[in-house]
Amino acid sequence: MSVWDEVVGQPRAVGTFQRAVLGARRGAEDPQAFTNSWLVTGPAGSGRSTIAYAFAAALLCPDNGCGVCPSCQQVAARSHADLTAVATEKVSIDIGTARELVSRAANSPVNSDYRVIVVEDADRMIERTSNTLLKAIEEPVDSTVWVLCAPSEADLLPTIRSRVRVVALSTPPIDDVAELLERRHGIARETAIRAAREAQSHVGMASRLVTSPEAWQRRDSSLDGVLSLASTGDAVRKAQQWADLAKSDGEAHFAERAEREKQETYRSLGLDPGQAVPRKLQGIFRDLERDQKQRAKRATIDGVDRILTDIQSLLRDLLMLKLQVGVPLVNESRRGELEAVANRAPASHTIASIEAIALVRERLAANVPPQLALEELLIGYAIGSS
Ligand SMILES: [Zn+2]
Repeated sequence: MSVWDEVVGQPRAVGTFQRAVLGARRGAEDPQAFTNSWLVTGPAGSGRSTIAYAFAAALLCPDNGCGVCPSCQQVAARSHADLTAVATEKVSIDIGTARELVSRAANSPVNSDYRVIVVEDADRMIERTSNTLLKAIEEPVDSTVWVLCAPSEADLLPTIRSRVRVVALSTPPIDDVAELLERRHGIARETAIRAAREAQSHVGMASRLVTSPEAWQRRDSSLDGVLSLASTGDAVRKAQQWADLAKSDGEAHFAERAEREKQETYRSLGLDPGQAVPRKLQGIFRDLERDQKQRAKRATIDGVDRILTDIQSLLRDLLMLKLQVGVPLVNESRRGELEAVANRAPASHTIASIEAIALVRERLAANVPPQLALEELLIGYAIGSS
């Protein structure tokens, strides 16, 4: 077992980080393989934070990332004294958090040779925050390691980009994701492949499909009937259904995650689940709850985003069929329905619909109410296909 087991389909990136861990040790043969500031880039679901924490665990582990020692377990639970994990899913990283990070970065490690700071969504740093971090990243203390994660290099200020070593992840192959699902959840190969395809190799989403029948059901319901929408009335009703599904999906997704974080916190503090929390540890749970409340606000928006991603995959399948490319479909289970529509709808309509989805995302980012943006999308689709 090792901390790299959970990283899917990224052999090159794993190699780079494994060499960096060896290079970081005293008297290393290849000290150049190590540096203090890193940026992990890759598409959503490619496992940016998974590999970032694997690297952190390997650096902090006396055995280069065995996956079983107390140090490795504490990194897995995000409770290691020498690990700072910067919260995900907040809308942006505020200046207070950035200042706190900079002051922690100057401290010496407690139990290990290094102090590792993982910033999961570095692209959500606003410019002011970036400048605060810049100095610390530019001239890091020898014992401090920064691991920033972002979709692409372009998401960071050029000044930060030029200070970090970039490790680029690619979308993991369907087979690798399926293999992880089989191993982790003990499910049939066929189910694993279908989940990996429908989640478009997004490891977290694929795991969720196979562990939550309701989530998979919601995905199916959101796609039902979309391709045959032909009237404004149908479009408005479907948009309403999407808004409702997005809300329940967002809430369920958030609840699953919140519970998991709570269990991990219990475990990392050496408490049994359900055991009364000693007074001096209660502050940790209060902080967690406060943080979770902030993130809950984003849940519906994330649910809408997942539906849009699924619809995009449906339209992409349609286009592949029209162009007769002969690649596997994301939504193989809907092949019959897709082929029927592909025979009658012009490619221009499909392409226009894909472009319309990008527009919906822009409108949502500009705070347009989800239902309104979704109605526009579906009315446009229905009118175009009638
Ligand atoms: Zn270990």
